[in-house]
Amino acid sequence: MSAYEKFVTGFLDYQSKAAHADPELFARLAVGQTPKCMVIACCDSRVDPAILANAAPGELFILRNVANLVPPCEPDGLYHGTSAALEFAVNALRVEYIVVMGHASCGGVRALMTNDPDIAEVNPFINRWMRIAEPARLRTIEIAAEQSLEHQICICEREVIKVSLLNLLSFPCIAHGVKIGRLRLRGLYFDIASATLFQYQENTDRFEPLR
Ligand SMILES: [Zn+2]
Repeated sequence: MSAYEKFVTGFLDYQSKAAHADPELFARLAVGQTPKCMVIACCDSRVDPAILANAAPGELFILRNVANLVPPCEPDGLYHGTSAALEFAVNALRVEYIVVMGHASCGGVRALMTNDPDIAEVNPFINRWMRIAEPARLRTIEIAAEQSLEHQICICEREVIKVSLLNLLSFPCIAHGVKIGRLRLRGLYFDIASATLFQYQENTDRFEPLR
């Protein structure tokens, strides 16, 4: 079975199970969506927020991009897919939470930390995109200069989440929502090997495991 055939078979299996479990589900969903939680996660195939959170269709408004990055607010008239999704989530859906979920073994963060010019040359879009996380790279080098590259990548994966959280606040609609208590921001880090989710604690500047 090809990868595409597996996709189709998987859908048909889901379709029959969903119809059996909740015959009205898609009729309800067709009316509209009212998710209260937005999740910004990496494209990585191992970190699907809906699967990890055991969420049903309609529950999570999910944005996935390389390395779960939020760019700073740049009203420059160019194409900003991530910013457009944020705008819709906050202004139209009026979500109550925005969760940035990073993860271990992130290829985007590895590309950023290895900074290999040959890799950058054949991946100009990734190279340019990952520059959003340059403050995370600099911070990592500052606090872990003597550590191995593998250890630095682990640290940078967490620092990237903090950069995205900070950049969220550069959007006026998000900063306002947070200020008046209508919107809450959260940072999560998924360690794949141990299947553990860590939550960022702003007061201690640490990621603590969720139990
Ligand atoms: Zn990743």
